Amino acid sequence: MNLIRVPLKRVSLSFVPLFRLPLISMSLSFMPFLLIISFISSSELIYHFLLKDYLRGLISFLFSLFVFLIPTYFFRNNLKLYLIILLPIILLAPFNLGYVAYFNSKLSEATVLMILNTNRNETLELIRNYILFLSIFMVVYLAVLYFLYTKVKKTIKTGYAAYISVISLAVLAISPFSKYDHNVNYIKNIKISLCSIYPYNIAEGLQNVWDQDNFIKETKKERDNFTFNSRQDPSIADKQVHVLIIGESSRYDHWGINGYSRNTSPLLSKRENLITFSNTVAGGFMTEWAVPLLLTGVGADNYHSNLYRKGIAGAFNEAGFATYWVTNQTDYLGYIRIHSLETQKGCYMLTDFRSTKNVHRDMELVDTLKKILAEPGDKKFIVLHTLGSHYSYSSRYPDQYDVLKPSNKTITSKITDKTYENALINSYDNTILYTDAVIDSVIRMVSRLNNFSSVTYMSDHGEDLFDDNRNLTSHHYGSPPSKHDAHIPFFIWYSLKLKNTFPDKISHLLQHKDAKASSENLLTSITSMVGIHYPGQDSLKDLTSIYFQNSKQLIMGDKMKVYHYADLK
Ligand SMILES: [Zn+2]
Repeated sequence: MNLIRVPLKRVSLSFVPLFRLPLISMSLSFMPFLLIISFISSSELIYHFLLKDYLRGLISFLFSLFVFLIPTYFFRNNLKLYLIILLPIILLAPFNLGYVAYFNSKLSEATVLMILNTNRNETLELIRNYILFLSIFMVVYLAVLYFLYTKVKKTIKTGYAAYISVISLAVLAISPFSKYDHNVNYIKNIKISLCSIYPYNIAEGLQNVWDQDNFIKETKKERDNFTFNSRQDPSIADKQVHVLIIGESSRYDHWGINGYSRNTSPLLSKRENLITFSNTVAGGFMTEWAVPLLLTGVGADNYHSNLYRKGIAGAFNEAGFATYWVTNQTDYLGYIRIHSLETQKGCYMLTDFRSTKNVHRDMELVDTLKKILAEPGDKKFIVLHTLGSHYSYSSRYPDQYDVLKPSNKTITSKITDKTYENALINSYDNTILYTDAVIDSVIRMVSRLNNFSSVTYMSDHGEDLFDDNRNLTSHHYGSPPSKHDAHIPFFIWYSLKLKNTFPDKISHLLQHKDAKASSENLLTSITSMVGIHYPGQDSLKDLTSIYFQNSKQLIMGDKMKVYHYADLK
């Protein structure tokens, strides 16, 4: 092979005087080739420029450029062949760029899953809206590509080619050191660097889809075979709607209804038949762990058993309910999907939580709920998985909820930047105001039906907001999690018909509103509250039962370590 037969001395850098080596002195004939390669890297530049992070944009652009220049040496006798091999990546580059410009977010492992899991109609609609623009762009793009391609010189001097490849390889070799992850080895660090750029991000995404699929299949048989043997009290003759809203990154003490100094929940504060539980703890400090525990009633000390059993939707299914899963969350590990698949119908909306533009807001879940309620059927159980207060906070709510100012709608700052703590907390509190409106809209819609019905809201975990000298933000610090990550809001609204049917259960709920509870209590309490019973339903975990006992309040932190809420700071 040509590539092997090259005499070593031809490769030697000493043949090319150093001052002639830099890329800038490179012959102009290399430029068309370089320009075509730079199309692949352009999205890195645009992405960071949109975020006004110009230096990072430039560095990221150059990094991507160098990565694609590494093989130059091997193709020095046929640069055009290299371009032909890269053609699929070059042709897909405008779609990557389009995604970056439309969502203000990079394609990521989550995006691939999101597109695959989303309702196909929505993806098609998105493309249809831009088909004319995209067609014109592609025609121009292809014309420019072809023109440049005809100008590409077939060969490049061996010395230059070697220099370009060596420098490019050196750039790749040092790339991890700006953000070195000491928990993994050097090769893994290189991989992390590469996965930040197109098209490696898409390759990683496809790999994750594969992994997720295998993960779901691994324990599918056990879950399929699991039955609650649940039955509902036959005396309930009314039509029924029960809604479970899963909150996101919503912390207990930033709710006006829970005593926060700001009135962030003006609507729920006025709601009748609404109980707020004051001492409830999340099962995990991250969504992927907390939500499966919340759905299955499994404790943090027994996490893995959630994989082998069904969750709350399974219990409602068996009791004769039509069950629905409505979400705008990306579940890129599949930990939640294994339980969302238990519902009979799913509505997965296209939102990557990293996007800051054109994102779905939680009120759209309420629009979907409205359509579900209009469908025929007397017994419905609907789960709404919200994006609630997930960072970026100011992207979660529309302008009319930008009440507390200044917020990140006008100030661009990083979540870790304490200088703009005020804007960050204002933005966060505005997400609570918006969530208050979302929950209240659901209650309003359900209460109008005058059915035997309920609406339950529980957040997956809380959030850190520069609360003490640890200056923690977000909810990613898990060893141990903070008490603000653990303490979650939990509300139950019940209809008059439900209260009249089960007055004792409601009175026990009220009696236990300040008791030690956790997400572990949700499944048992909700099923029992609506008259669904099954063998093994533990009355000690049932907030509607006189036998209820305080929860151990365990939360899973980083590396699956389990902590007692009482020990957290
Ligand atoms: Zn979460």
